[in-house]
Amino acid sequence: MLDSRQKSSILIIATATLVAVVVFAPTLPAAGVIWHTVQRGDTLSAIAKQYSTTVTALAQSNSLANPNLIVVGQKLRIPTGDGVLYTIKAGDTLWDIATRQGISLAALKEANPHLEPKRLAIGSTITLPAVGDRLLASRQGTAIALAWPLTGRISSSFGWRAGRMHQGLDIAASSGQLITAPAPGQVVSTGWCGGYGQRVILDHGRGLKTLYAHCSTILVKPGDKVQSGQGIARVGATGNATGPHLHFEVHVGGRPYDPLQFLK
Ligand SMILES: [Zn+2]
Repeated sequence: MLDSRQKSSILIIATATLVAVVVFAPTLPAAGVIWHTVQRGDTLSAIAKQYSTTVTALAQSNSLANPNLIVVGQKLRIPTGDGVLYTIKAGDTLWDIATRQGISLAALKEANPHLEPKRLAIGSTITLPAVGDRLLASRQGTAIALAWPLTGRISSSFGWRAGRMHQGLDIAASSGQLITAPAPGQVVSTGWCGGYGQRVILDHGRGLKTLYAHCSTILVKPGDKVQSGQGIARVGATGNATGPHLHFEVHVGGRPYDPLQFLK
């Protein structure tokens, strides 16, 4: 039989082993991570130029307090794309990182498509999306939430559909059903646009725009300010639509995102 002291030492060993496994879990480099070993004569601006990145991105990726102070032999992580790298620390969750960095969880996941959020290895690196994507988050650090522009069944989701990218969310509704603004904003454009039929685009600031297609009637005009919940159009089947539904798009910094990531 084990006395309590033996039991507790076994527990300590078991705990220590567990901690060691967590800390020394193989830290697979994030896809596309490049390392540069500082050579004699290197400057951060020269390295930035060499890898088509910026001094700021390099300094952020390597937590450099003083960008003028790099030493020969020092390994620098080179950020790929226009994002910057972040090293996972103990206790980090994707949500914490996104909130602290002022980016949305969706943008963070998109920048790291191979990441398993439940298995963040301490010391491994993830890519923080480019500053443009940080517009996804409000000044309070919480992601922008949009109200549903109407209630209805999702008839087609965002993503690839029969070899073509479906840039929005289709919400089935009856003809004439009111479509409301999901957040305060300003009307950018209204009117006919090819396959979209009668279309409304709203600008909500911070790089966020929403689009409503296949409308039967448009209730606003360009320049109008709209409040959340205000009627902007009515459901129809104009343009390339087989039946009445709302085709709803969310764009941030000019790129389409899955509206479901914003709808509350
Ligand atoms: Zn659609």
